[in-house]
Amino acid sequence: MTGSRFPIDGDRLRRDIEDNAQFGAVPTDEGRGRTVLPGTKPNQRAREHLVDRMIVAGLDVTVDAVGNVAGTWRPDGCDPSAAPVAVGSHLDSVPSGGIFDGPLGVYAGLEAVRAMQDAGTTPTRPIQVVSFTGEEGTRFSDGVLGSSVAAGLTETETALERTDDGETLRDALLEIGFQGEGRLDAGDWHAWLELHVEQTDRLEEMGVTAGVVTTIAGTTRLHGTIEGEADHTGTTSMADRTDALAAASEFVLAVEQAARTEAERTDTTVATVGELSVDPGVVNVVPGEVEFSIDIRDVEKPVIDRLVTHAEETLQALETDRGVETTLDRSYDVPPVDMAPTCRTALHEAGRSLDVETVDVHSGAGHDTMQVATATDAGLLFAPSRGGHSHNPLEWTDWHDCAVTTSLLTEALSTLANSEDTAHPSQHS
Ligand SMILES: [Zn+2]
Repeated sequence: MTGSRFPIDGDRLRRDIEDNAQFGAVPTDEGRGRTVLPGTKPNQRAREHLVDRMIVAGLDVTVDAVGNVAGTWRPDGCDPSAAPVAVGSHLDSVPSGGIFDGPLGVYAGLEAVRAMQDAGTTPTRPIQVVSFTGEEGTRFSDGVLGSSVAAGLTETETALERTDDGETLRDALLEIGFQGEGRLDAGDWHAWLELHVEQTDRLEEMGVTAGVVTTIAGTTRLHGTIEGEADHTGTTSMADRTDALAAASEFVLAVEQAARTEAERTDTTVATVGELSVDPGVVNVVPGEVEFSIDIRDVEKPVIDRLVTHAEETLQALETDRGVETTLDRSYDVPPVDMAPTCRTALHEAGRSLDVETVDVHSGAGHDTMQVATATDAGLLFAPSRGGHSHNPLEWTDWHDCAVTTSLLTEALSTLANSEDTAHPSQHS
């Protein structure tokens, strides 16, 4: 890496991430783990620490109604009325999650601001460092809770009324002192950037430190049933059976094969039958009914739709061939989201100016950026995950890689914070 206009302090960044790792730390034999569920004591301590660090950096800290934390840097000489550029991620974790997933992006955003301050530069636009509430979906929602409110996809009230174990999000946030006012609005931002660990091993395999995300894969989930006839296994001849599980087995393999065929071309298609429940599920009864779910993901919506159609046709064929009755419901449908060309370019350019190789990658997992991208120009940068491990204590990103990707983030953030207004293309859907 060559010299940056805004040298970041890798030790300061590391200290922040390691300090944050103490909150909710769990004992492990290998690696470092933490459990930081939204609205819990460890979450409170992690949030309070972030606020302290933001105040030390001279940021103006606000907390919105759903607990999203924003620290705004409005230096003398910037245009205070210009739309800010925002950067960040989340501080919550899955149970026994890793120490980088989320905190790297939050503290890298803060470090980027501090690096610009240290360099004595004044961006045209204010910069906001953001930590979203409840990204992981361990409580109150299936995930990306705070960012979906910020993007206007979920109503504030709806989010606050969500419950976990009888407690509402509102009460949980009140309890930890982070139920603020108003709504952090991603639509107000000129652009958004998030640095996140990759959670797979492509960058490591390629030997590249920085992945610039092109598209976040869309996800479709289906739930279905296959109904046959529950009969005595000993007295029902093979010719007289309507075995729901045997039919389901054909179905599972057909889903897998169709996804494999698509993936030969796209390299991004995945489809999984992850749940199968057999009724009555008894050793001496021919299976009468099977319930299943499918999770399909790809960066191309038509591919997802084709796989859904293929699943429907497979079930129809099973009705004809095996006499079963079937149902299939598309219960969850989030389309793929393209990252904004301006943000992608800024990240690649940052790599070029710092002499750090960058590579285009797609994201198979959803992130807060997926929500934000529906409201403004958004970019997502990946740092390598050792061995691809994530959501467990083995999750690791070398400190050097944290520092290099944070330098890229800083450079790109500066570019966006000094860029003119652009008409937001209508692709935000
Ligand atoms: Zn994350």
